[in-house]
Amino acid sequence: MSYNLDTEVLYQGTRPQGIIKNPETPAIYPATAYILDDMDDYVFADKGGRYYYNRSGNPNRDELGAAVSFLEKGEKTLICSSGMAAISTVLLSLLKCGDHIVMSSAIYGETIEIAEWLLPDFGIEVSFADFTDAEAVKKAVKSNTKMFYTEIIANPLTLVTDLEAITEIAREHSILTVVDSTFTTPFVYRPLEHGADIVLHSMTKYFGGHSDITGGCVTASEALIDRIYPKYLLLGCCLDPVSSWMTLRSIKTMSMRVRAQNQNAIRIAKALAEDPHVKEVYHPSLPDHPQHELASSMFDTDYGYGAMLSFRLEDDHEKVAKFMKNLKLICYLGTLGGIRTTFTHPRTAFVNNFSAEELDRMGLSEGLVRISVGAEDSRDLIEDLQQALASMDD
Ligand code: PLP
Repeated sequence: MSYNLDTEVLYQGTRPQGIIKNPETPAIYPATAYILDDMDDYVFADKGGRYYYNRSGNPNRDELGAAVSFLEKGEKTLICSSGMAAISTVLLSLLKCGDHIVMSSAIYGETIEIAEWLLPDFGIEVSFADFTDAEAVKKAVKSNTKMFYTEIIANPLTLVTDLEAITEIAREHSILTVVDSTFTTPFVYRPLEHGADIVLHSMTKYFGGHSDITGGCVTASEALIDRIYPKYLLLGCCLDPVSSWMTLRSIKTMSMRVRAQNQNAIRIAKALAEDPHVKEVYHPSLPDHPQHELASSMFDTDYGYGAMLSFRLEDDHEKVAKFMKNLKLICYLGTLGGIRTTFTHPRTAFVNNFSAEELDRMGLSEGLVRISVGAEDSRDLIEDLQQALASMDD
């Protein structure tokens, strides 16, 4: 049958038949909806039997989710539109009014903002504790504590959490443990294998790896994901199919990137520690890092100790600005985990959100610089850092 021009053009080319077979990489499914056969088919689809609406399910998101579940050794993964979407979805779907959560005080700044500004609006009580001190975490537990929330390598001072000590307390009190493992990646450490109930990531970082994708993921047992999924649907934070496809492609090189970046970080941490302009270097690979032994026993050190490091210069705004300006290769960027080395100034990143006293308490002094190490030749990176440090004396 042939239709009039305005009708026909809407259908031309939309149903390629029989000519696509075994593409070497998966196809992208941008469709917001899938054609239904009849009412029975709708009921079947609505029960999860097949795809019918993008927000409820999409092949690209599911393929990516399967790869993340494999890497994290979890049963099921939800793919979200950002790391913050992953974090807020977990907190808002598992906590309710009257519950209490104990969070590490050394976590990503905007996660702290969720805890301070969003959760109390829903009647959820929050306490912060030093998660490097299991006794302090134990003391923070109340009769209504339902969740522990921590990172493994915390930002920016690279403090390491002994997760098994924390999950032991959690088990005693039937508390869920949620871990943001963005800095560690599943190659270095897999929290679900050490007693955590939920592991999440900002996929904007090492999963994406090229500073061109924003995404997040939540991995847990099937039972827990089935509790989170209905609220994930309502919060509407699913990742789009193209970004899901791109992230799945990036995962193929993640092991190589992470290994190269982490090994570079070890070399750079050592070089910075030897530079007279640098007062202190924070990286778990360094023998004088307070948790070097712990990190060495926890991590797959064949991959390394993460690619995030920070160091302290003199607390002199002018000098720090000069150092930053004189870096030739390494750029100032408000993200991390990309293939190219970048730096940020943590105090400036949060100067609009926290008071000077709070920033000092968090260790974010003027002289603190954070580096996200990339996969360049480490000799070029060290040379760039050394010449910029030397320029502070001019
Ligand atoms: N978790 C950590 C440890 C982060 O560093 C970030 C962002 O920098 C996030 C979560 C938030 O991720 P996104 O920016 O993808 O929302």
